[in-house]
Amino acid sequence: MFYGMGGLVNKIIKRLFKKQKLENEILGQEEEALLHTILEYSRIISQYIPYFNILSSAEKQRFIKRTWFFRQSKTFHYIGLGEKEEIAILVSAAAVQLTFGLRRYKLIYFKHIYIMPDAYQFETPGELYIGHVSPKGIYLSWKHFLQGYENATDNVNVAIHEMAHALEYNNFMDHADADPKFRADFQLFPVAYGPALAHMITTRRSYLRSYAYTNIREFWAVSVETFFENPSALKTTMPKLYYVICEILKQDPLAQHRNTTIV
Ligand SMILES: [Zn+2]
Repeated sequence: MFYGMGGLVNKIIKRLFKKQKLENEILGQEEEALLHTILEYSRIISQYIPYFNILSSAEKQRFIKRTWFFRQSKTFHYIGLGEKEEIAILVSAAAVQLTFGLRRYKLIYFKHIYIMPDAYQFETPGELYIGHVSPKGIYLSWKHFLQGYENATDNVNVAIHEMAHALEYNNFMDHADADPKFRADFQLFPVAYGPALAHMITTRRSYLRSYAYTNIREFWAVSVETFFENPSALKTTMPKLYYVICEILKQDPLAQHRNTTIV
């Protein structure tokens, strides 16, 4: 059923964007339901995710399609808040934003996503988290998810941050979806980290917030947040880091078309 539905999703998305008159056609029940779902995806994503709104029409089609597939591949768990499909769609869209230039985007290592209403305790009593990633799944505070997109230029976006951890995790764990090309490109990252760390130590200044310097994993996640929220400033202040992230993620937020390599 999954792949059959996928074909139908492709067909419906294509027609919607070509503005063909779907209303004059007699649609099957399944097609009607999918058409409604896809329109909802488009409405919800365009309302919250600024990245989506500046994509070309073809890119928007791919974005919605990928979000749909990503969402279908995960089980969402709502801990302390009511189940809401909008949440699953938006969290999936955040992952799709991060991986938009990559061929493998489903983060297949992760089957479960856990949503909490607000910051939560985990392992260490007294310490509050707004998101984390573990072999059990991806965890996010919904309140902070929304804040991440409400202020789209403060270099803080917890969903992008955690998905960046998840992407690294997905590709360095030993399983079928790990991408050797991503692993090879990711070797560029320590090369950017070393000089940035040295610069930070000597000047005590960095365009990235200080949490980035906790360790190389946090440096990756914080850099990626900044890459999407303030690409020009990152490119100006830390050009090597900027180009390395473009190379790893295969997209450039400052280019007219996000990427040209993937169809
Ligand atoms: Zn982190």
